[in-house]
Amino acid sequence: MKPSKILLSCFFILLYVSNPVLGQEVKFPWPEGKKMALSLSFDDARASNPTHGIPLLDQYGIRATFFVVPQSVQNNLEGWRKAVASGHEMANHSIVHPCSGNFVWSRNKALENYTLDKMRTELLQANFEIENLLGVKPTVYAYPCGQMYVGRGPYAQSLVPLISELFVAGRGWLAEAPVDPLYTDMAQLTGIEMDNKSFDQIKAYIDQAAANGQWLVLAGHETNDSGRQTTYLETLRQLAAYVNNPENGIWVAPIGEIADYVQATRKAMADTVNMPQLVRAAADGTLHLTAENGRGVGPRIEYMPDWRAFGWFTGKDQVEWEVDAPHSGTYQAVMEWSVSDEESGKGFVFESSTDGIKGRVERSGSWETFKTLSIGKLKLQGGYNKLVFRPEEDFGSVGALLDLKQITLIPLF
Ligand SMILES: [Zn+2]
Repeated sequence: MKPSKILLSCFFILLYVSNPVLGQEVKFPWPEGKKMALSLSFDDARASNPTHGIPLLDQYGIRATFFVVPQSVQNNLEGWRKAVASGHEMANHSIVHPCSGNFVWSRNKALENYTLDKMRTELLQANFEIENLLGVKPTVYAYPCGQMYVGRGPYAQSLVPLISELFVAGRGWLAEAPVDPLYTDMAQLTGIEMDNKSFDQIKAYIDQAAANGQWLVLAGHETNDSGRQTTYLETLRQLAAYVNNPENGIWVAPIGEIADYVQATRKAMADTVNMPQLVRAAADGTLHLTAENGRGVGPRIEYMPDWRAFGWFTGKDQVEWEVDAPHSGTYQAVMEWSVSDEESGKGFVFESSTDGIKGRVERSGSWETFKTLSIGKLKLQGGYNKLVFRPEEDFGSVGALLDLKQITLIPLF
């Protein structure tokens, strides 16, 4: 450990828990130190929602998200308008609720026969009709039947990019894991079934989400004492009482509200959180391999948020990046690093599966001074590449290699 760095940034030291094998785990900061977030959602604008479910939720002061189909809203327009007035979120669940033709009732509106442009038109139409009926414009979507495609076989296409373009968030169905707020694709929020369950069954998911600082998104349909596809009122009562106990540390809010918070928080944290992910080329073809998107592998490799760099503490430490290269070809590799004069001069290797660069870590002046320099040329194959930066020789567990902020790969073709 470099002593000059220990005292910096108490805030982040509190947030970061070092894990030498998997890299570092980051706790997502929910508001007011809450342990987790919870959204209750109900699909299809079922008749029992305005008559039973919503009055019960109102009694406990809990606001939920309702993924409505405009035609069903018209069956009880007054009831749904009341729901809006008490703060519930009205969200998009399409116009005609198209699902796979494997559901016989959906054979004439099967997703297998949809195209993306037809879906886009209908989603915008649903937004328009909901806004006309209820005066609010939906910002989140729930995939009918949780199905995220149109077309079949060689013509199948994902709906996710379209939902990502039109909405802040999209919710699936029948998932098994809560949403991880730092990792999740906002257009593929996991929705966990709340129908026909006791509170104890729901509580298992709450415990899991609370233990991991996650966002539990529950999904149901009817709200009544019994029946199929029904969230039981007794379950809702117990759930509401548990959620409203401040000791349990649960932030309960509609999906759109929590999604906005998650987006904004992620944006604010983006530069200081190590979240390994596939590196895609910028518009000019450049690949930015940063300390934030790389994966530390080794006994003591450490992402240091206050420096936005990886620090090496043993000769077995290394960093890996997964890269999607738009084309095969040669790239100029430019490295940004710092090192003390005493530790400088060790050999490094930066390699793909077919090519590599070897060099010496040149002096930067001090650990606090970062320097940027070309280190050579590297061939990449088009598509997936795994790139590794490591010491050329294992220098043991005393000493450091460098602090590595980023390597930029500039296409030379
Ligand atoms: Zn539905």
